[in-house]
Amino acid sequence: MKLFISADMEGISGVATNVQLKKESEYQRFRKLMTEDVNAAVDGAFAAGADEVVVCDGHGNMPNILIEELDPRAQLISGNNRVMCQLEGLDETFDGVFFVGYHGREGGGYRGVINHTLAGICVEQIRINGRPVGEAEMNAGVAGRFGVPVLLVTGDDVLEKEVKQTLPEAETVVVKQGVDRFAARLLSPEKARRMIREKAMRAVERRREIPPYRIGTPVTYEIDFKATNQALMTTTLPTVEQIGPKTIRFTLDDPVTAYKHMWGCVIIAMSATNGVLGHVNA
Ligand SMILES: [Zn+2]
Repeated sequence: MKLFISADMEGISGVATNVQLKKESEYQRFRKLMTEDVNAAVDGAFAAGADEVVVCDGHGNMPNILIEELDPRAQLISGNNRVMCQLEGLDETFDGVFFVGYHGREGGGYRGVINHTLAGICVEQIRINGRPVGEAEMNAGVAGRFGVPVLLVTGDDVLEKEVKQTLPEAETVVVKQGVDRFAARLLSPEKARRMIREKAMRAVERRREIPPYRIGTPVTYEIDFKATNQALMTTTLPTVEQIGPKTIRFTLDDPVTAYKHMWGCVIIAMSATNGVLGHVNA
């Protein structure tokens, strides 16, 4: 039995504000905490009978998890330049997916801890077939296309509320309550990890009861960017239509292709933030 863990950092136990993930000394602490939450999920998965666990580091430029401290039974996908972003390595051979350390979508609630959607620097909102989505729901749709169900989601209470709408069967672990976007009421990481391990076991045991999340096809993505320059530069792709000063739209038949295309648009928008190639003399 094979499990895939996609891990982010904002919803890791102990994380309350974005400064902790940016200031170098703090970031090094939080890399450890991220690795430990992931280890708890890996341990629960193996305890419930998993034979193979692949962990995909999905925060920032994606080399956060400390490989030397990762449970040696797991393998790690680390580093950037990935066409599948937070899901690199996922395919139809997996029996389930965990989302560990995830967070609510930008503006999805009043108090979601470090709420954002994929890239806070450029994305205001992403909609799939007219519905606003966060990373958990977007990624669940991709996993669903492979026939793989989301079994476990960990993060704050706002995220839990969000995912209950589309993934009602998934096990959830609330490791913190949102107080503000940059403040939280935290459980001790030790307690949170015990909960993650337990729910990971239960999630794997229940895997056959939990259906994959299927999104309707064709898939229409709309992205509201934060600035006009970000939106306009994505129209270099012939599939993209600009439907407002900061809003683009595209439609594709396959959810996986559409996800990659969305990620490509976000990459272009990020690089357009201060002028494409603004710092390069090539
Ligand atoms: Zn993140």
